[in-house]
Amino acid sequence: MARRKKVYEGKAKILYEGPEPGTLVQYFKDDATAFNAEKKAVIEGKGVLNNRLSEFFMTGLTQIGIPTHFIKRLNMREQLIRQAEIIPLEVIVRNFAAGSMAKRLGMEEGMSLPRPIVEFSYKDDALGDPLVPEEYIIAFGWATQQDMDDIVSLALRVNDWMSGVMYGVGIKLVDFKIEVGRVWDNEFPRLILADEISPDSCRLWDIETGQKLDKDVFRRDLGNLTDAYTEVAKRLGVMPSNVTHRPAKPTLIN
Ligand code: C5P
Repeated sequence: MARRKKVYEGKAKILYEGPEPGTLVQYFKDDATAFNAEKKAVIEGKGVLNNRLSEFFMTGLTQIGIPTHFIKRLNMREQLIRQAEIIPLEVIVRNFAAGSMAKRLGMEEGMSLPRPIVEFSYKDDALGDPLVPEEYIIAFGWATQQDMDDIVSLALRVNDWMSGVMYGVGIKLVDFKIEVGRVWDNEFPRLILADEISPDSCRLWDIETGQKLDKDVFRRDLGNLTDAYTEVAKRLGVMPSNVTHRPAKPTLIN
């Protein structure tokens, strides 16, 4: 494997320089973290599943006209992506009350919301990704009003498509998080979907049984996380033949 430079390492992924300017290689690790990395584990096969699932979601979204950073999957754990300037926000869409919203407002988990609700957290691990109003985002220059209008409409389109696809395989899309990046096409800025979409960043409940098929299985010690993600992959028809196969780690130069 060619030697390449690590650009960034996050909790669940590593970014390497890509083969062409403006591209990166996104490597999916098996590391799972929760509660701002207070809880940590290595879950064999998670990176392989998330690489496949994120490919599946990003490809489908591209096909309905939503621009994403995804170019192609390279191997079991890596995909080629377009480099983007990440807007420092976690964009969360909720269809049903759960997680931090249910806790903050004293709602029962699973309560249907009157409409999809989009909220924003400021991406800062040291601060625990605090919820921020749009007013802060614009005042502090993290994004413009036009960006925010575009981000909300992109997030709602992702929600509609994702909800429908998951409903088709008997899964309720309770909520999810996306990240958005800015790219420049001939000096014109454009917003694209970045990062990943996987059961690490969504809440997915079986419609019949209510069984959780997402990272809450790890956060709340509800069972085997790989089994849950494998179930999602199987239902969507993206189950890789051998999820535990580990390719050699890339050689790093710094
Ligand atoms: O914890 P909370 O209820 O705010 O999470 C809402 C959604 O955003 C969940 O699907 C969760 O997995 C996702 N999320 C994430 N990364 C974070 C925070 C939340 O993917 N740092």
